[in-house]
Amino acid sequence: MMGLYKGPRLLEFAKTPQHLQFNKYVLTGYRPVSTAQECIRSLFYMHNELGNIYTHGVPFFLFLVLLPFSIPWMEVDSSWICAVHYLACLSPTVGSVVYHVFMNHVGGEHVYDTLLSMDMFGVCLVNTLGALPIIHITLFCYPLLRQAALLAYTLLSAYGIYCATTARTNILRLQAFIWQAMFRFLLFLFRVFGSGVGSPHSLRLFVIMDTLAVVGGLVNIIQIPERFVPGLFDNWGNSHQIMHVMVVCSIIYLHWGTLEDFEWIKTFQCPTEQSV
Ligand SMILES: [Zn+2]
Repeated sequence: MMGLYKGPRLLEFAKTPQHLQFNKYVLTGYRPVSTAQECIRSLFYMHNELGNIYTHGVPFFLFLVLLPFSIPWMEVDSSWICAVHYLACLSPTVGSVVYHVFMNHVGGEHVYDTLLSMDMFGVCLVNTLGALPIIHITLFCYPLLRQAALLAYTLLSAYGIYCATTARTNILRLQAFIWQAMFRFLLFLFRVFGSGVGSPHSLRLFVIMDTLAVVGGLVNIIQIPERFVPGLFDNWGNSHQIMHVMVVCSIIYLHWGTLEDFEWIKTFQCPTEQSV
């Protein structure tokens, strides 16, 4: 019976390995250093990473199964953007689940760093892959400019991935995403004030998407609410879980916005004199 599984004795903050002491306001509930098998067993008893695991684990399976039904695979001009979009929606949750399940692995800091890079890589992938359909649609009537922008964004993203996976602090990690966010902002400006195209409803959804992601990242950095009542949010409701939920909401807005654009592009015709 999974609910009745009694886990090992949990540790307090000071007793956990140094590389796992990243939130001094989470006082208890740390799993002991574990083998891979013991890490997997920790899915079935209470500890302070359980909320982190399930807030991304459950959405991962829901996205995996449900999203393909809402993606118009055959109706969009190039189906690669559908595949890219699906991968984008899945990538941040899968990396995160692996990170949170195995972070206390007996391999120590080296294993931890690799897992953290994996988690960061997932976030980079949603930023990167998630934006490609937006670029594709926005510059729909300018094939050359579109290809240049797709290439530029991919290169910028490769640099962002390098920064994010090697960064040592949360602030440096957040900085790695700022360049991508600025590029997307330019794209949004081009839609509003320039000759970029796209569904009139999708932009609002993409702005909500980016806002949720940025606010989630900030909440995680400033460690609210646990900083006000250390120990109260050890298992549930701490900043990292709030960020997880905001990331999931952000992905849902990405999905809605992209579907809007896909629906819109089906019937859109570029003015012929604009084509370059
Ligand atoms: Zn996480």
